[in-house]
Amino acid sequence: MKTTVICPGSFDPVTLGHIDIITRASGMFDHVVVGVLNNLAKNPSFTTEERIALLSEATTQLDNVEIVGFDGLLADYTKQHGINAIVKGLRAVSDFEYEFQQALTNKKLNPELETLFLTCNSEYMYLSSSIVKQVAALGGDISSFVPECVHDKILERLKSK
Ligand code: ADP
Repeated sequence: MKTTVICPGSFDPVTLGHIDIITRASGMFDHVVVGVLNNLAKNPSFTTEERIALLSEATTQLDNVEIVGFDGLLADYTKQHGINAIVKGLRAVSDFEYEFQQALTNKKLNPELETLFLTCNSEYMYLSSSIVKQVAALGGDISSFVPECVHDKILERLKSK
């Protein structure tokens, strides 16, 4: 049986921490869907289309990775699209409580759905999209935080905010 997993998130914008998790998932599973949350409540800095375009560019070398936008419940989306498991990156203890709650809720809503956690790369332990936005807003160098191929686009967009 082919295994399809989903890496869900806001990706507002994509960071090297995200790419690390997506790349590792792509090496372990047949098909990786990167689900970009169309989360209006979060008031994102990049539109869903922009976030999808940045992720697509940063993952072109990974043949089994597909980027999609989605709304609604992840438990429903995975059921409708034959996705076997959710793959998430776990940064620190502070991520754990929230992620544990999400995983148990998803399991309740869709008992066949598993959530797998990959330990983040120690190099990206501190990295989040909000850190990228804060550093860029203050004129800092974000080149070690985001994929090189989309660095200029991200910086341009954050500067114009
Ligand atoms: P954030 O806004 O905190 O960067 P997202 O909601 O976009 O996070 O994250 C999507 C997924 O990527 C989540 O599973 C999250 O745990 C994971 N992730 C985010 N940053 C990192 C990182 N630096 N290292 C590993 N995984 C990460």
